[in-house]
Amino acid sequence: MKNRYAFFEGRIVPIEEAKVSVMTHALNYGTGAFGGLRGYWNEADEELYVFRPRDHFKRILASAKMLLIDLPYTIDDMVNILLNLLQAEGFRQDCYIRPLVYKSDNVIGVRLNDLKGDFTMFSIPFGSYLGDEEGTKVAVSSWRRISDISIPARGKFTGAYINSAFIKSEALMNGYDEAIVLDESGHIGEGSAENVFIIRNNKVITPPVNADILEGITRMTVMQLVREELGLEVIERPIDRTEFYVAEEAFFCGTGVQLAAITEVDQRPVGNGKLGPHVHALRDLYFSVVRGQHPAYKHFCLPVYASEAIAVPAMG
Ligand code: PMP
Repeated sequence: MKNRYAFFEGRIVPIEEAKVSVMTHALNYGTGAFGGLRGYWNEADEELYVFRPRDHFKRILASAKMLLIDLPYTIDDMVNILLNLLQAEGFRQDCYIRPLVYKSDNVIGVRLNDLKGDFTMFSIPFGSYLGDEEGTKVAVSSWRRISDISIPARGKFTGAYINSAFIKSEALMNGYDEAIVLDESGHIGEGSAENVFIIRNNKVITPPVNADILEGITRMTVMQLVREELGLEVIERPIDRTEFYVAEEAFFCGTGVQLAAITEVDQRPVGNGKLGPHVHALRDLYFSVVRGQHPAYKHFCLPVYASEAIAVPAMG
């Protein structure tokens, strides 16, 4: 099935009509911020569940604020736009949703102030992001993650993803599936588009939010699941590169990547080089939670077809 619609300039329109000029400020200067949400099809419920949409829209509004984009939409408006869009698409399969705020003026001149901003959203059917989520092979990147003193790390700014693109392509072109990128202090940061965890001595360890990482919504979910369901301790602290070499298990998490076992780092096996027991358990748990199959976490899942959508008013 092909995607057919987008929310664009205040209305749901056929995707072919959702076009911007080559002069668009965001296209020229990277002055936009995006989000990424997933919708999971639940066959038993005949329902499409979107995972934690309010948290995603809260983060995109925070990015908009940093970019000095004052949108006429609240989190509730964005949830309503999402429902209108997905009900129009009618997906009965997993999908990915891309909201985007951007400087929409057609002007030359690099700045953030005194420019109009707009909000758009579209969705596409989507499967897995990494080839093998049970055996991801990574290398430490020769690139560093951009420091928060250069580009705010806790926003998902379009221009900043040039950094991720260099990181990802270097990894792929060298034969790896993904990369781990160090922050400027030389500690583990994250992947090109995912947060990272290691497990040592039954403790689940991840870099703190001031390690120039994105404050991932999956990261937050995983920390809660580890504590509440696996009963293991979660520690946020700087991680040395070589701790990866001696970790028993490691994994990536993020909306796109979902929860993927890292089984090799810099050509060394992580643990025994196979999907380990904790990551195995976490993957099963994660997929039952996001698909709306775990009663304790069903409040994270927005049912698309059972929810009432209010017609999107012409705004913007
Ligand atoms: N870090 C980066 C750089 C990302 O692009 C993403 C994907 N949004 C993540 C982490 C994971 O964030 P989330 O769990 O909110 O999708």
